[in-house]
Amino acid sequence: MSRPAVALVDANAFYVSCERLFDPRLEGRPVVVLSNNDGCVVARSAEAKQLGVPMGEPWFKLQATADRHGLIARSSNYELYGDLSVRLMEVIGRYSAWQEVYSIDESFIGLNGGAAAGRAIRDGARRLLGIPVSVGIATSKTLAKLANKHAKAHPAFEGVCDLAEAPPGWLDNYLATHSVVDLWGVAGRTTRRLAGYGIHSMKDLRDADDRQIRRWFSVVLARTVRELRGEHCIPLEGPRATRDQLIYSRSFSTPITDADRMAQVMAVYAQNAAQRLRRHGLVAKTMTAWCSTSWYGAAQDHPSVAVSLPTHTDDPIELVRAATAALPPRLTPDTRYVRAGIVVTDLVPRGSQPYLEPFVPLSERRRLGDTMQAVEDRFGPGTLGLGRAGLRTPPEWAMRRQMLTPHYTTRWEHLPVARAA
Ligand SMILES: [Mg+2]
Repeated sequence: MSRPAVALVDANAFYVSCERLFDPRLEGRPVVVLSNNDGCVVARSAEAKQLGVPMGEPWFKLQATADRHGLIARSSNYELYGDLSVRLMEVIGRYSAWQEVYSIDESFIGLNGGAAAGRAIRDGARRLLGIPVSVGIATSKTLAKLANKHAKAHPAFEGVCDLAEAPPGWLDNYLATHSVVDLWGVAGRTTRRLAGYGIHSMKDLRDADDRQIRRWFSVVLARTVRELRGEHCIPLEGPRATRDQLIYSRSFSTPITDADRMAQVMAVYAQNAAQRLRRHGLVAKTMTAWCSTSWYGAAQDHPSVAVSLPTHTDDPIELVRAATAALPPRLTPDTRYVRAGIVVTDLVPRGSQPYLEPFVPLSERRRLGDTMQAVEDRFGPGTLGLGRAGLRTPPEWAMRRQMLTPHYTTRWEHLPVARAA
């Protein structure tokens, strides 16, 4: 029987699964992936969860567990995860004409065919990519999220849970025994306010008057109420024609306290932002440069400067000049900054905008950008830099990633080598 439904396809412990794909020794062992600078746990394998490793735990606190239980850590390899994410979404998209890529490892899709169709997707992702996924199927996005969570929590489902197959009364019982805090899109603050109205469980919310909920809270929460009843009312969003913004941000391994070094950071980051623009075939009109102190320190400072660029551009020289001029003068002396970033917005596809800068020999500029790209493609990132970004050895604030795996799928020189014995 065929029945239109919505499915949430979500990779299991995605970052860990990416690491395992190229290092099968990690299979079946407790593995965690750490945040920038090898700080905290951002992904855990099922085995690491069983050891009781909490999300967000600093790695230095886990040394004892690592020694005793063989817990393995990897630095976050976002280049690898990003590339595998694109491939995963492409594979998932083959199973539906209706796909919304929701996060790096999640897609909502329109799905006919129930659990059998879900199993086909699970097997496809395994076979074509080697990434394990779970599929939750229901009549609304909110319920598909719950079904997915349930599939992950109970191995008997083998990764696929279709709520249509649940016995009568099962969903009622499930909703009655789970708190609203576990619902998609419901924050802790909303949970506390709901409690004030006597709404604690998901069932309480489902059975509430959605017009009242809209009055007391928001249209969004009222939609969640109807979604819990099985009405599909949060529409699937198609892929956006262009992105709204591109972000390049990183934390430093050691804090930066002076304008001079911040200018160097800005030169490197702006160049990376320019490279990202080129890769997506986009040009930007606005750039925001920002940096921030630690949220836990005594002295807080979060300067941010938006710069309107003379024309839509992806020119690394233009971006580096703007970023290095804008942010460093705004720093407070003797303040410890731990993170910085560049955001480019007002993006349009390259070539869709007339160039209005008659005095700049643009063909020259374009050639420079292309040449820099070609050199980096051939000799690796960081081979070439503009001004302060032209450093042969990484500066001391560069990210610390001591347990980083190779970029297997995006750099020729990192390709794994197989030998026949
Ligand atoms: Mg996931």
